[in-house]
Amino acid sequence: MISREKRAAASAAASPYAHLTYQHRLNFYDEPPRYNITLDEFESCAIDRLRILSEIESCLARNRSPEDMKTVIDAQCRKFLPLDANTASKLVDVDAQRKRDHLGHFVLRLAFCRSEELRRRFVKSETMLFRIRYELADQNEVNQFLESKKFAWEKASNGELQSLKSELIAVHPRLPWPENGSPPAYYKVNWTSVPDLVAQRKVLLRLGKAYVPATEQESIVLQEFQERIESNLDRTAKALPRLDEDDRILPILGHLADGLLAGIPMDSSFAVTEGDGVTITADMIEDLSRKHFPLCMRNLHDNLRKDKHLKHAGRLQYTLFLKGFGLTLDEAIVFWRKSYRGGKVKDDDFNKEYKYNIRHSYGQEGKRADYPPMNCARIITSQQPSAQESHGCPFKHFSIENLDTALLTKYGSCGMNSSALPEINKYVKDGHYHVACTRVYEITHNIRKGEGLGGGESVTHPNLY
Ligand code: SF4
Repeated sequence: MISREKRAAASAAASPYAHLTYQHRLNFYDEPPRYNITLDEFESCAIDRLRILSEIESCLARNRSPEDMKTVIDAQCRKFLPLDANTASKLVDVDAQRKRDHLGHFVLRLAFCRSEELRRRFVKSETMLFRIRYELADQNEVNQFLESKKFAWEKASNGELQSLKSELIAVHPRLPWPENGSPPAYYKVNWTSVPDLVAQRKVLLRLGKAYVPATEQESIVLQEFQERIESNLDRTAKALPRLDEDDRILPILGHLADGLLAGIPMDSSFAVTEGDGVTITADMIEDLSRKHFPLCMRNLHDNLRKDKHLKHAGRLQYTLFLKGFGLTLDEAIVFWRKSYRGGKVKDDDFNKEYKYNIRHSYGQEGKRADYPPMNCARIITSQQPSAQESHGCPFKHFSIENLDTALLTKYGSCGMNSSALPEINKYVKDGHYHVACTRVYEITHNIRKGEGLGGGESVTHPNLY
């Protein structure tokens, strides 16, 4: 008799895809990557994956329907982490795609094994990502993948099923059970492998085994995936202290973990554009701020107007934002000079000190680096502003009372009202600051809930607002 392993090996060898290093698009990530990579690859694969996990968290926080979430995440995956089926292997390098997927998972595993909170969030979003890919995959592919995993699932025999017929029909009355034909297919698994089905009374329990209809196979697979990730994360956490000496990798891992805590990958970037053909001038900022600025920038703008001054961190955050908005260096100097006029900064001081800083932000002084506008992750994880400072993200750094007041006063004329506050406050209390900001965007721009910036995308950068 040919064993199951030999059958699987023989069918893999006979497969037209036998040359692929990664035979399957789906992956349980049991084997760590065993090849050399550059630091750049290490970071970029992880950041691309983090974008997707963050979007999953954001969809979950916004209670998006499973179908909506599948559409949004599928689009994000195509953009940042495409993963094509074997049938596309003549057109695209599916091994390279799968390598990025594999690597990104393991780097994030290193970053997120360090605390209970990070582990919980990582497992939840990774399991959801696997679920979406599983449901979008072709059934043949899924079958081949499951066959390769050699799960210890036992198929219940026909005789056993016949003896339990009435109990099984009572649990699954809609499952067709032909009068004279074979019973429907069932798997026998330890009941602990399918806690969700047990909780929903969707399985028959006998002697510690759950009888799971083949139609519920996905639940067993997802549970198996989740358990493996959880135990592998525990093992990684124990091995992590050995990395403590590595000063190249540790800062990257810390950065990635901050990104997940902020709900957004750290490098969620924004390319400075020429303003889509519209020339932005200093005089237009006041008007634009009321219609197009997110709360962090609106807060900076209003405080600048009121105090005729901003402290260094706020000035930097706002200057870079305006640069990303399309304000040229000359117009930026005009804007800041006007904004300080009548305040405690004299014209001479402005020319000596402040003008230099603006030119520096535009890459015209010092080492002439072209500093990009700050993304939400960087702003959200910045230091808590003191009473005299105005930088940061109000959703993270304001008290709930101050946040509510700011929302009503600044956006009251654009549709914000007190009935919207409980929902926004809930996102804030759960730590989903950018989701709260996205909801404000939807309300003040009269956009259907869940649409975000378009196609469900949430705010990850003030300049995308
Ligand atoms: Fe600004 Fe981002 Fe916070 Fe919105 S979520 S207020 S854009 S930092």
